[in-house]
Amino acid sequence: MKKPLRVMMIGAHLDDNDFSGGGTALQYLERGDRVRFLSMCNGCGGHHENSPEEIAARRYQEAQNVARLTGLEYDVWEIPDCELVADLETRKRLVRYIREFAPDIIFTHRTNDYHADHRAAALLVQDASYLLIVPNFCPEALAMKEMPVIMYFEDPFQNPPFMPDIAIAIDNVIDKKFEMFDCHVSQVYEWLPYTHGNLDKVPVDKKERMEWYRSPRVPRDRVLTVEEILANKTKEHNEYEQALPASQYRELLVKRYGETGKKTLFAEVFQLSEYGKPLDSENEKILFPF
Ligand SMILES: [Zn+2]
Repeated sequence: MKKPLRVMMIGAHLDDNDFSGGGTALQYLERGDRVRFLSMCNGCGGHHENSPEEIAARRYQEAQNVARLTGLEYDVWEIPDCELVADLETRKRLVRYIREFAPDIIFTHRTNDYHADHRAAALLVQDASYLLIVPNFCPEALAMKEMPVIMYFEDPFQNPPFMPDIAIAIDNVIDKKFEMFDCHVSQVYEWLPYTHGNLDKVPVDKKERMEWYRSPRVPRDRVLTVEEILANKTKEHNEYEQALPASQYRELLVKRYGETGKKTLFAEVFQLSEYGKPLDSENEKILFPF
């Protein structure tokens, strides 16, 4: 049996990894690979009723529910939302943290992004990447022999634009990905509906609220065009949101999966960072073995 991969997803917030890479994470987990999520911030920022302490505690538990559901490990640092800074102390902490896990591949944000925490998280990973192999930096943690491959999550920012290198079909795990979202109760059923002005529309029943969150569902018998998705996608239409990358980056799916890629409904797409180990066709087969 091949050695299990060690996969790390580093997000600024408690659902960034789930939203941008949850489907890919689930496929690693199905193979028996080890997946660790890190949220660098503690989630204390976003809630209309809970105090910072209350919401941070709830969100930690929600992350652990994701961990229980899926089998991944979910770490949360205590840094308050909106206060993540790419300083030397945090760089050292991250270098020690990554070295301890020694991932084969890391997924994270890009450095150009609307949220200061996303930018800081991305910059911290970028700053850490080469230092991971420098033994005299943080000598208390054993330096890695080589840098991991680093991939960026998809984002919509245009200057410079996100330029994906790989698309992973996630149709086989989309139900479970929605179950991951469903664990983030305080976000998807409270804070986000509150910010969208539709808190009163959220059903009380657990099954109904999940369907509400997911609905309307996209057709299963054909793929939608980007235009169709954009015409239907609202903040409440989460399946449409999840369906956008497959239509937007169809050619990458066809390149990877051939005919099947033409029919894929849901995908996650990633851009290779030039600051980690290069991704060639050989290690792509090893690191994306599904
Ligand atoms: Zn975020």
